[in-house]
Amino acid sequence: MLWDIDGTLLRNAKSGGGLYDEAIQQVTGFTPLGPRPAEHGKVDGQIIAERLAEYGLPAVAQDAVARRLDELALERHAGGSDVREPVPGAHEALAAVGAAGWTNALLTGNSTTRARAKLVGAGLDPDLFDWEHSFFGGTARARTDVTAQAASALAGEPHVIVGDTPTDDVAAAAAGIPFIGVATGIFPVERLRQTGAVLVLPDLVAGLDDLLEWLGGVPAEETLTA
Ligand SMILES: [Mg+2]
Repeated sequence: MLWDIDGTLLRNAKSGGGLYDEAIQQVTGFTPLGPRPAEHGKVDGQIIAERLAEYGLPAVAQDAVARRLDELALERHAGGSDVREPVPGAHEALAAVGAAGWTNALLTGNSTTRARAKLVGAGLDPDLFDWEHSFFGGTARARTDVTAQAASALAGEPHVIVGDTPTDDVAAAAAGIPFIGVATGIFPVERLRQTGAVLVLPDLVAGLDDLLEWLGGVPAEETLTA
């Protein structure tokens, strides 16, 4: 079970990605223009690349900005600021999915460092997840790169992505991975139903029974690999 983090396991942050601009400013000296709309569903590597291009900054700064973003995430975590909240029912859903015989893992646009800082800050134990079979977009330029990696690594084993944006669905579909939408981000149930989602949940509390029922109907590994 490949969980997205922002808007899916954790409530979205209120500010729209100010940390990216802070990292860019500290690395390049360029002062970005200020707050901007959040970019839901994009991966970090993509957001950094797009902003560098938009600001006319050299693409070669990409890796340094990504590293600075990680450092800022750790600083914020250590300082107790930028703390996220789990969505309602997150703990229970993770426990129930595990009890149903599935492995909880991550498929997120963040780096491993940022993902871990967010989860710990929100009180979700990182050990609830299989980090060896999790997939991260800290250096990816598109979410489809991350889902392609997951599909390749998990070939022959049942897997499904849970996310909160239509972009999650597009990336899942591109890799042939089923997508379950949950409307705890900014996209409502009606919008997620317009995607290719095999299931759309209002949230992890009201939707938990449906989620477990769907998981129970997925063919076992031997069927898939036959
Ligand atoms: Mg999300």
